Amino acid sequence: MNIKHTPPLETIQKIAKVFPTPFHLYSEAELEKRARLLKRAFQWNPDFKEYFAVKACPTPGVIRVFQREGCGVDCASWCELKLAEAMGFRGEEIMFSSNETPAGEFAYAKKLGAIINLDDISMIDYLNDECGMPDKLCLRYNPGGELKIGTFVMGNPGEAKFGMTREQIFEAVRKCMRLGVQEFALHAFLASNTTDESYYPLNARILMELARDLVRQLGCRIFMINLSGGIGIPYRPEQDEADIAKIGSGVERQYDEILRAAGMEDVRIASELGRYMSGPAGWLVTKIIHTKKTYRNYLGVDACAADLMRPAMYGAYHHITIAGRKTAPVEEVYDVVGSLCENNDKFAVERPLPKAEIGDYLVLHDTGAHGRSMGYNYNGRLRSAEILLKKDGSFELIRRAETPKDYFATLDICRDLDLQ
Ligand SMILES: *Cc1c(COP(=O)(O)O)cnc(C)c1O
Repeated sequence: MNIKHTPPLETIQKIAKVFPTPFHLYSEAELEKRARLLKRAFQWNPDFKEYFAVKACPTPGVIRVFQREGCGVDCASWCELKLAEAMGFRGEEIMFSSNETPAGEFAYAKKLGAIINLDDISMIDYLNDECGMPDKLCLRYNPGGELKIGTFVMGNPGEAKFGMTREQIFEAVRKCMRLGVQEFALHAFLASNTTDESYYPLNARILMELARDLVRQLGCRIFMINLSGGIGIPYRPEQDEADIAKIGSGVERQYDEILRAAGMEDVRIASELGRYMSGPAGWLVTKIIHTKKTYRNYLGVDACAADLMRPAMYGAYHHITIAGRKTAPVEEVYDVVGSLCENNDKFAVERPLPKAEIGDYLVLHDTGAHGRSMGYNYNGRLRSAEILLKKDGSFELIRRAETPKDYFATLDICRDLDLQ
C-alpha cells in the first residue's frame, strides 16, 4: 500500500483561477524529500551523486530543486545539454548518456566537461574524430540474456539496443587506454520501472565484478559505477513503494564484498534516476468538461494524451482522484477520456470512482516523470502549463501552456493567421 495524496480542492481552485486547467502541478516538498532520501541511502559513499535524468522532466523549475540538493543531470541530446548549461551545471555535474549520437553532440558535451557515456565500441573512433578523447570516459555495459532474481525475470537486456558486450567492454577499455583515456566509469540500465529492491544491488554486483576484472586484467583505473535509472514507483495504491534505504544498503553490501575487497574503495557510486525522483511529486490536474453515456460511462476532460501519453502508449495505470471528494463512496465506473481522435486517448478504462460531474477537478497521480515531457501535438492539441506548488503554500508558473503560436512556430503562416 502507498498513500496517494490529493492536493486540497481550495488549492486547485486558487491555481485554476490564475492558470486554467489542465496543468501539471509539482510538489516542491516532495521533490526535495525524495532527493534527500536518496542522498541519505547512499551517504556511506562520500562522493555519491544523483544525475537526474532530464528527459523525465526537463523543466528548470523542477530540476532546480534537485540542483539545490546537490544533484547533477543526465542528458541525452543537444537540447538537454543546452538546458543543463543554461541552468549552470558544469563539468562532472553532467552525464551525457546518448546512443546513435548525432554529429556535434560529443564535441559540445566535451566542451562542457560532461562525463561522456559511450553506448557502443564503434563510437570510440567517432568520438575521437569529432573532438579527441576525454581524460575520463564512461562505458555502457549490456550483459545480455535475461536479468533474473531466482526465476523472476526483472528485465531483458538481451533485447535492449543499449550497451556493449563484456568482450567489447574489454576491447573498448584497451583501445581507449591506447588513445589516452586515464580513468573509466561503468554504466548499465537493465530493468525499467521496477520497485524490486534487489534490482539496484544486482546491477551493482554486475558492474562491480566487471570493474574488478577490468582492473585486474588491464590495470585500468575505475572512478565511478553508474547504476543509472530504473527504480520504479508504485503507480497503483495497492503497490508498495521501494525502500530506498534498503536499496542503498544492498548496494553497500556489494561494494564491500567486491570493490572494498579488491582494494577499490575510492570508486564513487552514481545514479541517473528519473521516475523515482520526480514521478510521485507530480499531478496532472484536469477538469471534467463533458459527460457521455453510451455502451460505457464517459468523463470527458480538458487534458488529453498530448499532456500525458503513458496510458495511451503503454496502457499505463495512473491513479485518479476527484479533488475534494476523497471520502465520497465509489459508486460509478467510468472511462476517463481526452479529446484526441484516437480511441487510445483514455486516462482510465472502466475505473471505479465516486460520482463525478461536469466542473469537477480530476487529479491524475504520479505524473511528475515521463509525463509532460513525453507530450506531443497530435490533433493540433497544445500541451499544458507546469506549476510548482511551493513549500510555503504559494505557487509559481514554471512553464506556460502552449499557444497556437507555438504550434505554428515551425511554419511561415503565423503572420497570415494574425497570430502574435
Ligand atoms: C531514461 C533513462 C534514465 C532514467 O530512467 P528512469 O526509469 O526514469 O529512472 C536514466 N538513464 C538513462 C541512460 C536513461 O535513458
